[in-house]
Amino acid sequence: MIIILKTGINQSDPEYQSLVNYLAAKPDVEIRSHQEHGTQETITELYLIGDTSSLDAEEIAGEPAVERVVRVSDRYRILGRHRGQVEPTGFRYNGLYFGQDTFHLFAGLCAVDNRTNTERMMAALQGEGLEATRMGAYKPRTSPYDFQGHGPDCLPYVFELAGKYGIRVVTMEVTQPRHIEEIQDNLERAGSPTGVMLQVGTRNAQNFELLKEVGSQTRFPVLYKRGFGITLEESLNACEYIAAGGNRNIIFCLRGVKSHMGAPHRNLVDFAHVPVVKRLTRMPVCVDPSHSVGSRERSPDGLLEIQHVAAQGLIAGANMVLADFHPDPERALVDGPQALQLEELPYFRQDLDIVREAYLRRCRLAEEMPRP
Ligand code: PEP
Ligand code: MN
Repeated sequence: MIIILKTGINQSDPEYQSLVNYLAAKPDVEIRSHQEHGTQETITELYLIGDTSSLDAEEIAGEPAVERVVRVSDRYRILGRHRGQVEPTGFRYNGLYFGQDTFHLFAGLCAVDNRTNTERMMAALQGEGLEATRMGAYKPRTSPYDFQGHGPDCLPYVFELAGKYGIRVVTMEVTQPRHIEEIQDNLERAGSPTGVMLQVGTRNAQNFELLKEVGSQTRFPVLYKRGFGITLEESLNACEYIAAGGNRNIIFCLRGVKSHMGAPHRNLVDFAHVPVVKRLTRMPVCVDPSHSVGSRERSPDGLLEIQHVAAQGLIAGANMVLADFHPDPERALVDGPQALQLEELPYFRQDLDIVREAYLRRCRLAEEMPRP
């Protein structure tokens, strides 16, 4: 059961105390308070854990501090959009706000190869006024003989350069708990000039120990990439693991699923699931057109297939686009064939802006549409 409090109610208010006293008298019910920070206001939600079956929702709703009471099903208990739950949700991290109604482009290197290319990438982002990037330091590779990422060796210059070029958030994959510590240590040593979002890659989509680990810390938000060979429901449950550990700052990323039916794309594009994830849960949704398409093929209309697919995600309401770029794709150590070049960044960005604007117009039109 979730109790949504009236806006402006604080823990020191007598109305709050009255509610807590009422609940404290109930056996086997634990209260966990959580604040949802929207763009306009902050909402306090009380999660009642334990045996809530005997609680009287109407009686609770009658308490002066209470706006509404929502009974939750077992499905996606924390992240789910339960019946009647319409509150805006999201989180602020290092000056950027992420929610189901915002949009951010995270363009960057699939894998950090050297300082020069990292700096060229960061400078290009700053030139476009972008404040977020992706930078792979730990790379899970299909072959053990392929480049595995520079790991902690590149973190000092990645963080230093991010600070220099005004990048507020770097999303970076981690494949084991030690990586989180390495990131934290290096970030602190660099004077925390930027923020980090921990990426859980598709290959670790059901690595429950890793999920618990990223969930038990709240310093860094998490970008969870849908498992390429499991159902959407299984992936959403994996996110629930992260949330159950205490970290609700999660973005869900669609990146295509493995299927020969997807050929000639690297993965079968699953961006039709953007509105589905937004309906089932309250997480912001990201799409990754680079790992879905996997090549720089251009369609006869002049647009790259990566652009077409990114647009498909965005027109469906995606809140974030994760895209591979490289200053010299032919020499990239990972995923060069799908990387866009730095000169293409302004056009890629403008193209996304056009689609985002069209999406917002669609939402305004939908508001006027009759709902028989
Ligand atoms: C990546 O984003 O670099 C990556 C490896 O993606 P995925 O886990 O979706 O394959
Ligand atoms: Mn990649």
